Amino acid sequence: MPVMGEPDALGKFGDFGGRFVPESLIFACQELEDGFKSAWSDASFHDEFEEILSSFGGRPTPITYCARLSSKLGVNIYLKREDLAHTGSHKINNVIGQALLAKRMGKQNLIAETGAGQHGVASATAAALMGMKCKVYMGAVDIERQALNVFRMRLLGAEVISVESGAKTLKDAVNDAMRAWVSEVETTHYCLGSVMGPHPYPWMVREFQSIIGKEAASQWEKLVGKGSPDYVVACVGGGSNAAGTFAGFAEAGSALIGVEAAGGAALSFGVKGVVHGMASSILQDEYGQINEAHSISAGLDYPGVGPEHAYLAQIKRAKYASANDGEVLMAFKVLSQLEGIIPALESAHAIAWVINAAKSGEIEPGLNVLITLSGRGDKDVAQVSELLGGFSGAGPGLEEIDI
Ligand SMILES: *Cc1c(COP(=O)(O)O)cnc(C)c1O
Repeated sequence: MPVMGEPDALGKFGDFGGRFVPESLIFACQELEDGFKSAWSDASFHDEFEEILSSFGGRPTPITYCARLSSKLGVNIYLKREDLAHTGSHKINNVIGQALLAKRMGKQNLIAETGAGQHGVASATAAALMGMKCKVYMGAVDIERQALNVFRMRLLGAEVISVESGAKTLKDAVNDAMRAWVSEVETTHYCLGSVMGPHPYPWMVREFQSIIGKEAASQWEKLVGKGSPDYVVACVGGGSNAAGTFAGFAEAGSALIGVEAAGGAALSFGVKGVVHGMASSILQDEYGQINEAHSISAGLDYPGVGPEHAYLAQIKRAKYASANDGEVLMAFKVLSQLEGIIPALESAHAIAWVINAAKSGEIEPGLNVLITLSGRGDKDVAQVSELLGGFSGAGPGLEEIDI
């Protein structure tokens, strides 16, 4: 049995996953499972998926060796560059897969949820490419905070629907998107943004994202030679870039490390519960109420995590750690100044963990570390500049960093 194989007949990875949805959604999930199984066993679907990701999505993304950072840390750092994919992150892999699948299943419309707006922009992009209609559910609070991404989605032809329930953020947007899906399932596919939600989403999204890990594993052989990295590290929000990366190395000897935001560390501090149709590790209070997650990076502000990560943690195949906002800001500056790469704040969590682990000796000198750089930081520079005291010159806090 492969470590990251198919879930069981109930859609479970060990004790986690499943399909905890109202009766009215069972049909939609089953139809999607059947559609995905048929597509994923069809070579022509794979060909079309890979062709679009290459001619439109910018794949394959390269692996970059970080010479200066490596020499500072005494370990060899390699980055898998999802920041160079179209729309600036790994999210394009998943939305192209789901949009293609929706078309194959005869659906003309996409709906999606979004928090920071990145998945909404990616979904709107896929819809524009394929001539589909797209509606994006977004919390009213997030609409306020992410005006630029709201404009991007509208520019791409999508309709942005303001979600006024609950805390008016990502968690509520997922609930409303699922409700909307039930009422228009004949014509509409729900394009969910990470390895979460009811079966088959966690499995399906991991399969679409596994192109990251498979590509990296074959590039690794050419670049570094036989064997695999000693450490494979990725940030974890819902967990899709990490799951896609781990899928390429789960059978190898690599240590797999997922790095959460300290304020949203569902694996480090969560308990088993059910949210958004899945059983997983979740941040909740003693009454089972879901806690709000808080992080400097909106893309990691999710109170749960994909069920397969809860499973990989339980069987101890992967380890999960967290990085706090201060460590993340430092890593953001380090990668910018030492390597000429401005990372997404989400990705900077993975960098931050590696810097700390190399300095503390947890990663032994001379070992090889592959980090998935899930996205680029252009979307984050205004926020970081505010935190660092403005754009003027180098500004306080942007002096050469000594690590
Ligand atoms: C959305 C996002 C994430 C978090 O999502 P995962 O499903 O955990 O991968 C991480 N990095 C970037 C750049 C993102 O846009």
